[in-house]
Amino acid sequence: MALHLYDSATRRTTEFVPVVPGRVSIYHCGLTVQGPPHLGHIRKEVVFDVLRRWLERAGYEVTIVANVTDIDDKILAKGADQGRPWYAVAYENERALHAAYEVLGCTPPTYEPRATGHVPEMIEMIAELIERGHAYPATDDSGDVYFDVRSWPEYGALSNQRVDDMQDAPDAPADGKRDPRDFALWKGHKDGEPRSASWPTPWGRGRPGWHLECSAMAAKYLGSEFDIHGGGLDLRFPHHENEMAQSRAAGQAFARRWMHNAMLNLGGAKMAKSVGNTLSVSEVAKRFPAIAVRYYLLSAHYRSIIEYSEESLAETAVAFERIAGFVRRAAELVGAGEPGPVPEEFTAAMDDDLSVPAALAVLNGEVTQGNGLLTAGGEALAASLARVRGMLDVLGVDPLSPVWACSVEPSGAGAALGSLVDDLLAQRAQARAAKDFAAADRVRDQLAAAGIEIEDTPHGPRWSVKGA
Ligand SMILES: [Zn+2]
Repeated sequence: MALHLYDSATRRTTEFVPVVPGRVSIYHCGLTVQGPPHLGHIRKEVVFDVLRRWLERAGYEVTIVANVTDIDDKILAKGADQGRPWYAVAYENERALHAAYEVLGCTPPTYEPRATGHVPEMIEMIAELIERGHAYPATDDSGDVYFDVRSWPEYGALSNQRVDDMQDAPDAPADGKRDPRDFALWKGHKDGEPRSASWPTPWGRGRPGWHLECSAMAAKYLGSEFDIHGGGLDLRFPHHENEMAQSRAAGQAFARRWMHNAMLNLGGAKMAKSVGNTLSVSEVAKRFPAIAVRYYLLSAHYRSIIEYSEESLAETAVAFERIAGFVRRAAELVGAGEPGPVPEEFTAAMDDDLSVPAALAVLNGEVTQGNGLLTAGGEALAASLARVRGMLDVLGVDPLSPVWACSVEPSGAGAALGSLVDDLLAQRAQARAAKDFAAADRVRDQLAAAGIEIEDTPHGPRWSVKGA
């Protein structure tokens, strides 16, 4: 069976056939860098990283574009609140996104264009849309430019809605619009906003509308037709509906298919800044091994909601440790070898719209069999280890991969911490010997502030990490 994927535009699962044989082009909407990425954001990165790995294993050359939305209302508001330039907020959170990619073993996108770097492409696209009669400058003095949704008969096709049933576009007051559902392609500069957040256009100074950014950047890097447009399901409307309308109204074929991952919920609601129930990737990765966090995020089917809880993550981490434990023990006995070919049932599961839960059943079955071979060892164990590592490699969670060398080998970070603490304890001992008790206490306080407890025993000080 060849790879079949669910297309959320047609709501059917069909065979994946790329526009250009042997190559796959994917665009998925990246982060609006108003804050560091949370677990909900990074689920999407993990989902598309697994898709990329599966396509590459099938022999495709994969190009992935994921934009960075580095300007919008929230970023400007944060900059103003924090008394620093808006772009300082954007760059800082973009770096946090890159750190999260790395922590969770995600290959960075092939291209990661920033919205503010593509204003000329957006201006050209707006001009094209005005020329074709699908966009118009605001009729008030806002300086906005809107997409005319009534001019595009297919508007609503992606989210399967009639225009009359749709909500108004909340991006600007309806005063200057032909229809309250018309959405902003371009936003006129407002008094009080920094001038650095505006660019000259034939319609006045202003800044990009969110939806237009993706259309302009997808066209630049992937051409007028590409294979897969992805993102979280919450982006289907209005963001993706609007992207599709703009690009097609400008004469492009745009995405052949749409792939949306389900949300990660916390407390029954989608994890989101606006809901206030976010958990940053760095916080979670402090409490659980990053490889187990990645395994948790990919172990559900990508179209199923994950109801996050610390208990469910802890349970998944234990389940993963069973697999990782087999890999380590088998590697000790017969050598690590290399990730090998995957079983046919695993391939069938992955080809069936990336059915990771079914693929994991095959993986766990193989681990059970492999565990039974541990005492015998030999070639049968080596072959089992190669199959298990092959499957883990597809999912990006092979504990023996160099990507995970630091996080699964506690001696790395643990040894570094030990040497730092030992140095400080030596300083403390010297201060005490010199009867400088204030200096000795400062060292103790410094360690306590870092979460390290010191206990003085007859054999010398003993240290431990609080709560570990
Ligand atoms: Zn987008």
